[in-house]
Amino acid sequence: MVEVEWQRMKAQEVRSFAARNAVAILPVASIEQHGPHLPTMTDTRLGHEVAIRAARLASDTRAVIVAPVVWSGLSEHHMPFGGTFTIRPDTFRALIRDLVEALVRQGFRDILISNSHGGNIIALQQICDELAPQVDATLVMTTYPMEAAEEIGRLLEEQEGVQHACEAETAMMMACEGRLVDQSDLAGQNSDTASAARFLKAGKASYRWRPFTHVTGNGVSGKPGTATVEKGEALLKASAQALADLISDPETWEAAQDLRGNETGGVPFRDQP
Ligand SMILES: [Zn+2]
Repeated sequence: MVEVEWQRMKAQEVRSFAARNAVAILPVASIEQHGPHLPTMTDTRLGHEVAIRAARLASDTRAVIVAPVVWSGLSEHHMPFGGTFTIRPDTFRALIRDLVEALVRQGFRDILISNSHGGNIIALQQICDELAPQVDATLVMTTYPMEAAEEIGRLLEEQEGVQHACEAETAMMMACEGRLVDQSDLAGQNSDTASAARFLKAGKASYRWRPFTHVTGNGVSGKPGTATVEKGEALLKASAQALADLISDPETWEAAQDLRGNETGGVPFRDQP
């Protein structure tokens, strides 16, 4: 099997990936409560699994290297359940910025921030907005349950998409860390999915922060009751394929266009590498 894991390589091997203009994946996740049945590493473990599988799949078309998972994310909303780390948005921003800059300094020019935790999404988009005009690299941010939403939706029986410690996450953890999943009463952990849809909403389309206790009493949002190993394997496969397709598509890494006319003037547009 092709080696894609940064931390398993020697420095000169990592350098050879940069020299081949490899895509560098920086997985970003969290350590947080995942209900009574799943370990706190769920997002970190699944983010790792999906990134590694995607890198191997995409390696047919292009070299890909996967950095260690950033396990510290934005999880304030899970703190009331314990078992959770959260860092301040300022710390998160500085951390991701430093790691991206370290990749760029080593010659990586196409960088995929591969997120596996919902609470990180908005902050990561902001970080990309801030960094993209400053670094000599193309930054793409993805969250696999969203990139693979269509395929995931087809595989799930009781949910439309990935929620939390749910049908999907439970199944995927059964597939890759079965011994760590308490399968004694999965159906007993089911929670009401309707309230989750309104978790961070007010009015018709307005935003309002709420802790996760607002949605669930046991830390679960969704229906782990129908999770199976087979479903988990299919979900991992579909998620990895969606990311591999994103990585392999040349359009993903295309330079930004400048459609202004020649004499338009204005602010100089940053040259893409
Ligand atoms: Zn999760």
